[in-house]
Amino acid sequence: MERIAAVLRKHWGYSDFRPLQREAMECALHGRDSLVVLPTGGGKSLCFQAPALVLPGLAVVVSPLISLMKDQVDALVDYGVAAARLDSSQTPDEQDDVVDAIGRRDLKILYVSPERLMMNGFARFLRQQSLSLVAVDEAHCVSMWGHDFRPEYRQLGLVRDAFPGVALHAYTATATEHVRDDIVEQLKLANPRVLVGSFDRPNLVYSVERRTDALEQVREVLDRHRGESAIVYCIRRADVDSLAEKLSGAGYHAAPYHAGLPDDARKRAQDAFIREEIDVIVATVAFGMGIDKSNVRAVVHAGMPKSLEHYQQESGRAGRDGLDAECVLLYGSGDYAVWRYIIEQSESEEARTIAHAKLDDVSAYAAGAVCRHRGILKYFGQELAGESCNACDVCLGDLELLDDALVVAQKIVSCVYRLEERYGGDYTASVLTGSRDERVLGNSHDTLSTYGLLGDFSKKLVRDWIEQLVGQGVLTREGEYDLLKITDRGRRVLRGQETPRLLKPAAPHTAAPRGVAADSWDGVDRGLFDTLRVLRRRFAGEKNVPAYIVFTDAALRDMARRRPSSLEGFREVSGVGEAKARQYGDAFVAAIVEACESRSLEMNVDPTLKPVPKPERTRRGRAVRPTVDLAKQMAYGRFDRGESLANVVDAVGKPSERVLEYLLDYLCEKKLTSPEPWVQASLFARVAAAATRLGLARPISILRELEGAITYDEVQISIACIKNGGDSP
Ligand code: ADP
Repeated sequence: MERIAAVLRKHWGYSDFRPLQREAMECALHGRDSLVVLPTGGGKSLCFQAPALVLPGLAVVVSPLISLMKDQVDALVDYGVAAARLDSSQTPDEQDDVVDAIGRRDLKILYVSPERLMMNGFARFLRQQSLSLVAVDEAHCVSMWGHDFRPEYRQLGLVRDAFPGVALHAYTATATEHVRDDIVEQLKLANPRVLVGSFDRPNLVYSVERRTDALEQVREVLDRHRGESAIVYCIRRADVDSLAEKLSGAGYHAAPYHAGLPDDARKRAQDAFIREEIDVIVATVAFGMGIDKSNVRAVVHAGMPKSLEHYQQESGRAGRDGLDAECVLLYGSGDYAVWRYIIEQSESEEARTIAHAKLDDVSAYAAGAVCRHRGILKYFGQELAGESCNACDVCLGDLELLDDALVVAQKIVSCVYRLEERYGGDYTASVLTGSRDERVLGNSHDTLSTYGLLGDFSKKLVRDWIEQLVGQGVLTREGEYDLLKITDRGRRVLRGQETPRLLKPAAPHTAAPRGVAADSWDGVDRGLFDTLRVLRRRFAGEKNVPAYIVFTDAALRDMARRRPSSLEGFREVSGVGEAKARQYGDAFVAAIVEACESRSLEMNVDPTLKPVPKPERTRRGRAVRPTVDLAKQMAYGRFDRGESLANVVDAVGKPSERVLEYLLDYLCEKKLTSPEPWVQASLFARVAAAATRLGLARPISILRELEGAITYDEVQISIACIKNGGDSP
């Protein structure tokens, strides 16, 4: 294992193992069959790649998709590893070159498709080589019970006999026990060590919102991740097209992706996303498999997913690099009906029952009031360690439990009863909130005893509660029009024998992030990070590889945190091995030195000697009050992430005037020329125009000029940016 640790440092620049990596690598080293189940981003690839480098002979890796193989091999070569692939997309000459390299024993790792591996002549050829191991990636594809069965994977049942004496290792992120057992059986693994990691992805911050204005809600999330990669999933192709168009119209670099588009348009969109020429892909579930992009910072579901397995898979495409990322699910009551319709059209009778049950589960998750991480884990038969995940809307306190949930629920269920179970959620909410809607009055429902019973609350909130009651099985929806019906559970609630949980927003909803990217931005200079991203993109363009193959986001952040001024310091960066330092070191160090000198930033920071306090993800004053300097540092970290002033006031526990001072200092120090997100671009333009006439010395005059449209704080923030040279947003 010492040699493995050395290889990890030398090639990948990593100094620690992720959970279960050590155990998995030990299996590979000692030639014991293994089945390794780790979540996406858990670091499965390294489990066979690192041992392959210390074992004698060639490691063969079977992978289902050419795009995945290409990505992995490109990445390995860039890390200075002798790796190649063999697949049908290569020319005969290219294939010959690879076969020659195998014969010369020049390669340590070979990626192949299952068909290729089992081709008669090829298997025989490989048998003559010395093989260190055979790794089956995405091993769930071998199982009919998995969500992505591939018939060609079935041939892998022959591998065991085709390569006697060579250890077999299977890797997957699919959790269910059924699939796991099937993999062992299909691949004929012999007494394998089965390593199952936690399915929790602590770096993903989950939240669920009822959909009120999809475009606005999606934009709110995207704005928190400006210039970063995000995926927006829609249920239907038409929704993809329309949302992608609206986002593009609003200035986002977005493209649509679904099975109805021509192949070349799809490929262009995917490539542009991978190369970071666009930030946002709006897609149906058709998008994602085969995409290894590790730095997706947000996944938004603009409609409810089909099952929790799908949700775990799709949302799991965020934050594969282990850095914080955000997963937001927007759902509307209509989604359920849309999915039911799609299922009716596409699934067999038998599959339909399972699909409906899965739909119920995901509905319950969306409307539920329990920790989102716990909810997903529970579905996969695991428990969350600890009380709070500290990374979902429920645990972060964005939502609070309603104290008098029983009484509110009883009012709602009674109203459904009074309406004789003949109306849907929207109408019921109108009656409960005392709407003067023509339809309500026309039906004389203003005379019902339950009319206006929840008049103190907004219709939106009451509508949310109805969904939550559906999610918890107190009410159910029936028929084409989704009429609300009372269940047995609902009757128990009416009798006071059971209390459902109802959530309410903890505070008026702000556009602020929910603690996204907490510790992983610690000490990172955002401006420098952005500079380095541009440089990374340049190299990626020159080499014709995706940006994250040059460096992961994690590596760039560590550079922008340590800010090394020499190659020696650069090698200390996590994610920088020898080959990376050789290829990119000079250019990156030069960029770092230039940026730091021009902005008087400290260089050669050793984060292990100078621990930056870990900002709490927890909000709303639960954190211990920090001292001034600490508060300022914390505030800066949050400004880096674009959090609102109100949010930062909450988090650092200082008066708002003080936090405004911090922000003004921050803008000045970082020389920011745009005041977004603290002042809208359009407002800033107006301040800038007013300032040209009135000068900067008299903010009050500017405030008067724009009377009513702007606050004094916003004027001061804008002025700070104008002073930095920003005169147009
Ligand atoms: P998986 O195949 O399980 O989805 P990957 O193997 O793609 O995960 O790894 C996800 C990311 O984590 C990659 O960027 C990888 O380089 C990084 N990674 C893997 N192991 C480590 C480690 N021990 N230390 C730091 N980063 C790691």
